[in-house]
Amino acid sequence: MSHVKKPLGLAAALNTTIFIAEGFGGIESHSNSLIMDGVHNFSDELAMACLFLAYVLPIAMSRNFQRTANILNSAGLVIISGFLIWQSIERIIHPKPTIGYIPLIVGLLATVANLGVARILKPIKNQNAAIRLAYLHNLGDIYVSLAPVLAGILVLVTHKSFFDPIIAAGIGIWLIGSTIKEISSSYNELIWPENAVCKHEHLEVVHKTE
Ligand SMILES: [Zn+2]
Repeated sequence: MSHVKKPLGLAAALNTTIFIAEGFGGIESHSNSLIMDGVHNFSDELAMACLFLAYVLPIAMSRNFQRTANILNSAGLVIISGFLIWQSIERIIHPKPTIGYIPLIVGLLATVANLGVARILKPIKNQNAAIRLAYLHNLGDIYVSLAPVLAGILVLVTHKSFFDPIIAAGIGIWLIGSTIKEISSSYNELIWPENAVCKHEHLEVVHKTE
């Protein structure tokens, strides 16, 4: 299954560079929208690493690992997003000067990198449902990464820093909404991820008999 492992590893590595760049850029420029998208990409990174490990670890281990990671990933994301929304509201009331060009440039780089992740996953997207989901998710993320770009442009043009936390709160609300939707629609698969693993085992058998 190295033809799956390699692109998954590559996608995970590219995702890592996105959240590190957004995290550092966000803190440096006081941009909540960049930090918010960084947290989002960090959670995507965990999910991608899980997917990668599911192909590397023994089945029993990967099942337990996936289950714990899935729960921590979804619940953690909702809690962190809630905290960041609260921080953004505080920032709207007491604005702090934001360096607009940093979310603009880093957001553009994250958009290109997310496009790269989608392109890496495209050839293997029909391997199983989990990879197909990751691919579709990343297509959406190309547009989400444009939110800090918009925040940067608004701050640069209007010289009003509060546009940045407003957009950050918007990303946070979208993130909580989509995570809750994901938990309720695939609760069984999140808690009992055997299904996903079985599919991958089945595929391996298919490959061996080819
Ligand atoms: Zn995402």
